[in-house]
Amino acid sequence: MKELIVISGKGGTGKTSIVASFAALASNPVLADCDVDAADLHLVVEPRVRQENPFVGGVKARILPDMCVECGQCRDHCRFDAVIPPDGQNPSFRIDPSACEGCGVCERFCPTEAIVLEDAVNGRWFISDTRFGPMVHAELGIAEENSGKLVSLLRKQARDLAGRQGRNLLLVDGSPGIGCPVIASITGADLALVVTEPTLSGRHDLQRIVELTRHFNVPCAVCINKADINPEMAAQIAAEAAAGSISVLAHIPYDNAVTQAQMAGRSLIEHSDGPASQAIRQLWDHTLAMLNSEDTSANGQ
Ligand code: SF4
Ligand code: SF4
Repeated sequence: MKELIVISGKGGTGKTSIVASFAALASNPVLADCDVDAADLHLVVEPRVRQENPFVGGVKARILPDMCVECGQCRDHCRFDAVIPPDGQNPSFRIDPSACEGCGVCERFCPTEAIVLEDAVNGRWFISDTRFGPMVHAELGIAEENSGKLVSLLRKQARDLAGRQGRNLLLVDGSPGIGCPVIASITGADLALVVTEPTLSGRHDLQRIVELTRHFNVPCAVCINKADINPEMAAQIAAEAAAGSISVLAHIPYDNAVTQAQMAGRSLIEHSDGPASQAIRQLWDHTLAMLNSEDTSANGQ
């Protein structure tokens, strides 16, 4: 089983549209939406949930009012201002769960063992059926963190599912950026395809994400989306990639059909046979060839 992850230095580069098109072109894939902070692959692939599970991302403190002697030590030691003292409406010390980071300092200082740390359900994760194959995906609660841990969980579940069902490709919509979730997305993948766009910020973000893939020894390749909106910048990005021994697998042109496909809830491949669709078909062929090649030197290592 091969694992292909599609990532971008930031959101809004068209990464998910490309993943949805790849899903339409692949045979026998398992899909994983690891862009958990802004999951939107489901809008195109229309998952039918088969299994729903809670995601426990950490712990949060809770005060047992009967054991609290109101000494205030928990409030004094909490660096996150998560302890709410008694007021006119609530006679006891309480924890604000949205502010609590679960560090456990209050529990350590409480003289009466009136504080307990309990599992915190930060979201839900799912195994679903789609018209392209099974998908593992998630919903993170509003303002909840630990998305790196959730990404690791989703990838593990997707790999296990691929193994159980004998599927030969895990196609992952990765997290944007270079933070913890994207590190959790790429480590151990067979190939990271970076989607960028021909802008100054796109060029800068590409440099950062390529450095990250090098650091974690993940082979990577690039595609430039909407390449014709700034051909000079696209050429500069391609030249810099070549200088770093990074393969640029496609220049995808701007195409109104991409937006139309999104509005129709379809992948571009299903919706159009226009220029962007053709470029993505070629990108898919090049990506598959690289994924199935033993050569990992294209990441410049
Ligand atoms: S666990 Fe940490 S963050 Fe939460 S209330 Fe206690 S001291 Fe504050
Ligand atoms: S440290 Fe313990 S006893 Fe003191 S106010 Fe907090 S919960 Fe109550």
